Amino acid sequence: MLSVRFWGARGSIASPGKETVEFGGNTSCLELRADGKLVIVDFGTGIRLLGESLLANDLKNGPINADIFVTHTHWDHLIGFPMFAPLFIPTSELRIYGPVMPEGFKVRNALKLMTDYPFWPVRLCEFAAKLTFIDILETTIDLGAGLTVTSKLLNHPVITLGYRFEYEGKKIVVVTDNEPFWNMFDDKSHPMYSAEADYEGCEVAETENKKLSDFFKDVDILVYDSAYTEAEYRNSKRNWGHTSYESAIENAKISGAKNLVIYHHEPSRTDEALRDLSVKYSKADSGLKIITAKEGMVLTV
Ligand SMILES: [Zn+2]
Ligand SMILES: [Zn+2]
Repeated sequence: MLSVRFWGARGSIASPGKETVEFGGNTSCLELRADGKLVIVDFGTGIRLLGESLLANDLKNGPINADIFVTHTHWDHLIGFPMFAPLFIPTSELRIYGPVMPEGFKVRNALKLMTDYPFWPVRLCEFAAKLTFIDILETTIDLGAGLTVTSKLLNHPVITLGYRFEYEGKKIVVVTDNEPFWNMFDDKSHPMYSAEADYEGCEVAETENKKLSDFFKDVDILVYDSAYTEAEYRNSKRNWGHTSYESAIENAKISGAKNLVIYHHEPSRTDEALRDLSVKYSKADSGLKIITAKEGMVLTV
C-alpha cells in the first residue's frame, strides 16, 4: 500500500487566515508511506505539523527514520526545516536528498545558510538528529523494502527535481515546481528572429515535454504544480516557472494518469476561489479524476 498525506499544498509563501482554512496555508510538504517506510517531500511550513505527528504517533514504535526528498531550494520548499521536531531527537535518522547546482551549491549549503547565526538560533551542526545528505540529479534509488524513487529534472528558475515513487506496482509522482518547456524563438516580429532557431526551439520544447510526460506515464497519483489558470499564465506569469490548470490536466491526460492532484496553490487564492476552480476543472474531463490538494488529505493506492 502506497499513500500520500498533504501537510502543505500552498506555493510561494505561507498564507494563513480565515480565507484559507479549508485548503490550508502551509507550503509544500508531503508524507508518503510504503507500508513501514516513511518518505517526506519538501521542508515547506507544513513539516512542522508533520514533525509533531511523528513524535505523537511514530516515536513510541521506534526512532524516526526517514528519507526526505527536497525538490529545490526555494524558500517555500525549505523554510519549515528548522521547526521539524525530529531534528531535536538524537535517535532520529534523516537522509536528505536534493539537487546540486551546476556551481556546486547543494541542499546542505542552503540549510546551513538558513540556520546560521544571523537567521536562526540553532545551527545545522547543533541539531541532535543524525543527518545524511545525498546530492542527486537524475537517478533511480532503491530505498529498500521494495520502494524505489526516480528523479527527473524539471523546468524552473533553479535546478529542480520531480520524483516518482514506485512500490508494488503503484506509482506516485510529484512534479513541483515546473513550467512546460516552450519555444522562446517563435516571435517573427523580433529583429533577431531566425527560422532555424524557431524550428530548433520548437523541437527542443516538444522533446523535453515528451520526456516529462513519459516520466509520469500511467501514474496512479500525479501531484502537479498548477499555480495559475491558463489565462493568468498567458497574461503575466510566463517564465515564472509554473504550470496552469489546463496544462497540468492536458499533461495528465497524455500520460494516462489516473488521479491528478492540483498542487502549489497560488498564495492569494482563497478557499472560495479554489472551490470554484475545483468545480470548473473537475468537469473538464470525465476519465481523469482531478483533485484539489488540501491539508490533511490522504490518498492511497
Ligand atoms: Zn514553490
Ligand atoms: Zn520554486
